[in-house]
This record gives sequence, C-alpha cells and structure tokens, in this order.
Amino acid sequence: MATNKDTVIIGGGLVGCLAGLSIANKDNRVILVEKKKFTKILSDDFSPLSLTANSVDYLRMKKIWDSKILKGTPIYNLDIKLFNSFNTITLCADELGIPELGQVVDKASLLSHLRALCINNKFIEIVDDIDVNLDSHNSMVILNEKSSIKYKQLFITDGVNSKFAKQFNIHTKKISYDQTSFILNCSYDSSENSAVQIFSKRGVFAVLPGYKKVKSIVATIHNKYINNYNFESTIFDESHLQKDLLPYVRNLHNTKLIYSHPLNTSRLDKWHINNIIFLGNSSQLLHPFGAQGFNFSVDCIKKINSINTEALDGDLLNSQVKAEIINKRHSLFLGIDFVSSLLMKSTLLGNISSPFISGIINKSSLIKKRFSKRILNI
Ligand SMILES: Cc1cc2nc3c(=O)[nH]c(=O)nc-3n(C[C@H](O)[C@H](O)[C@H](O)COP(=O)(O)OP(=O)(O)OC[C@H]3O[C@@H](n4cnc5c(N)ncnc54)[C@H](O)[C@@H]3O)c2cc1C
Repeated sequence: MATNKDTVIIGGGLVGCLAGLSIANKDNRVILVEKKKFTKILSDDFSPLSLTANSVDYLRMKKIWDSKILKGTPIYNLDIKLFNSFNTITLCADELGIPELGQVVDKASLLSHLRALCINNKFIEIVDDIDVNLDSHNSMVILNEKSSIKYKQLFITDGVNSKFAKQFNIHTKKISYDQTSFILNCSYDSSENSAVQIFSKRGVFAVLPGYKKVKSIVATIHNKYINNYNFESTIFDESHLQKDLLPYVRNLHNTKLIYSHPLNTSRLDKWHINNIIFLGNSSQLLHPFGAQGFNFSVDCIKKINSINTEALDGDLLNSQVKAEIINKRHSLFLGIDFVSSLLMKSTLLGNISSPFISGIINKSSLIKKRFSKRILNI
C-alpha cells in the first residue's frame, strides 16, 4: 500500500533532522526515515561542533537554539597560526562588526535535541530501524513488499558512502588527505571564548572550548606522525601535543580520546536530480579544518527553506536557489583546496607564502571580512 507524503527525508542525522524541522508544516508533511533507531545519543563527553554566526542565527530563527541544552560557548576571537607565531591571522568579532564569530556546541547534544524536536513535531512522522529502497521512476520509497511512500520531493541525507548516490551511479570525487582526526577532551589554561587553528608540519589542530571544566581539541594528524602521539594508548604522553599547541595552550592535562576519524573525504559531482536532493555528508564530506561541513548544509537548508513550499511540484529547486547553491558549493571547494594545497603540509611554497598571506590579511579589516566570508563562511 502506498502512503502519499509531500516530502521524504532519508537519514536522521544532523542534516536530515534540521531539513525536516525547517520544511515541515501543514502544507508540507514529512516522513523522516532512519536506518538505525531514532533515539537520543547520551554522552558525558563533549564532541565539539563549530557553528558560524550564520548557522546560530538560523537555529535561533527556527527556535531550535538553546545554549544550555547544546552546551554552547560563544567565540569572539579566532587565531589562525600558520607554521609559526609570526604568521598568525587574528579575527575578532568586534573588528568584523558582528556580535560573535560563532559558537562551539556539543554534537551529540545537538543531534539529540533535533531528534526530540522532530519527534514532537506533528508534521513529521518518523520511520526508523529500517533499510529502505528507492524507486525513483515512480517517486516511491519502498519500506517493504507491502508498503511504500509516494513523495513529491526527496532529501537524501544518509551520510558518507551514500547507498542512494551509488544507485544513481553519481560520480564521486574522493580525496584522501592521509590524515586522521582525533577528537579529544582535556583540561588546559587558555583564554576564554577564543578558538585557535594551528597549521603545523604534523597536521592541523583546533583548540576549542568545551563545556564547564572540559575543553576540547580536534587534532588532525598526518598518518606518518600518528605514532608520535599514541592517542589510542593508555600510556598516552601529552608532551608532544602540548608542544604543538604552544603558546595558546598551557598546562595540558587529563586528555581523553573521544573518537578518531580517518580523513577520506568525498564530493558528489551531482547533488540534485529532478525532485531529489542530496544534502550533508552524502553530498560532500569535507576536511574539518574550516569547520564547514554542517555549516554549509545549514546554508543550503536555509536557501531551500526560503522557497515557497506550494511551488514545490516536479523540479524541487527554483533556478535561482539552484544557482546559488552551485556557486557556493564551488567556491567552498576552491577555498578548501587552495588552503589545503598550500598549508596542509610544510611545503616550501607554504612556508614562503604564509608570512605574505597572514601579513596581507592582517593589514586591513576589509580583507579580513572577505577572508572570513570566503574561507570560513562567517
Ligand atoms: C572530525 C570532524 C569534525 C567536524 N567538525 C565540524 C565543525 O566544527 N563544524 C561543521 O559545520 N561541521 C563539522 N564536521 C562535519 C559535520 O560533522 C557533518 O557535516 C555532519 O555531521 C553531517 O551530518 P549528516 O546528517 O549529513 O550525516 P550523518 O551524521 O552521517 O547522518 C547520516 C544518517 O543517515 C542514516 N543512514 C545511513 N544510511 C541510511 C539508509 N540507507 N537509510 C536511512 N538512513 C540511513 C545514519 O544512520 C545517520 O543517522 C566535522 C566532521 C568531522 C569528521
């Protein structure tokens, strides 16, 4: 038996849930399909997710933002250190004319919060613990032999290595950085409400607030140096990491590995087909240095949400929104590729160019504003 729904969303991660909450209303009934159980993720650890001021504004506008539940800390200053302390770009919210650069929240708390809001939203129906199939010719999501859902529009947010992207044979550009990201909780002395991004020969380190006394670090290390750090060992020695983080972090202690993630990233060549859109990690999994993955998805959802849902028949996106997302996606990839080719390894070109890059950007507020918009989407 086929149920008719306006929108089906496949994938109940951060992006699928936010898309559902953004577009569900009395004229646009949504079914959210999740392969695993659609439950809260309970954790005492802090898994940092940096949100830009744009993303925070959008969550506030949608009445999703709750700084206490999300364990949010505002960021007013960001230092980006390129190989040595002489080449540091300093961005301050004041100078850019905005109240804050963004916020760091706990990823698991955000996901749990979004899921709770989806469950309580009367225009969203959750179908979980099921591996569905897709009959795109007839715009049907097949639940099992007996039941299916006919949709007007379909959002696919099933994460990296999307089963459905494979079904459409969409070509995927894979980029392996030969790096692994380690998400750590720890204690250290540092300035409050600040974040630091350090590009060094061994990798990229993000020093971020956590919640209450716990702070966090995302250390994305070139695989050839991983053994120096021994993050996964019980006899983990913090001295190597401490050296990398000077002068921003002092007295590093109580370091605990939360999870690690090998950095094999991917980008679909094509992210929409008629009334089907791929969003989030299923469309592109990005290197975390610019903290752009979820933020870019928020931007896409915001743009899609701006379209009048009554106009959503047949081709899902109007041409203006389509062009805006294409341009933004393209310039995001260019920015990430430019920075990663120059700064991801301690190359001669990177070492020679970083004093120029930092010098030029630090010189004028206008250039800082452009840099923040282009590279960091602030
Ligand atoms: C180390 C690291 C740090 C990061 N830091 C930041 C940051 O600071 N800021 C930022 O903006 N972004 C950051 N990102 C990126 C961000 O985490 C991702 O963009 C975001 O989590 C993507 O969410 P998603 O919903 O697309 O995918 P996922 O979280 O992978 O969710 C996919 C969901 O789909 C479900 N699913 C899978 N297959 C199926 C199926 N067949 N049917 C139904 N459901 C299915 C899964 O169970 C899951 O629930 C970071 C990423 C990494 C790796």
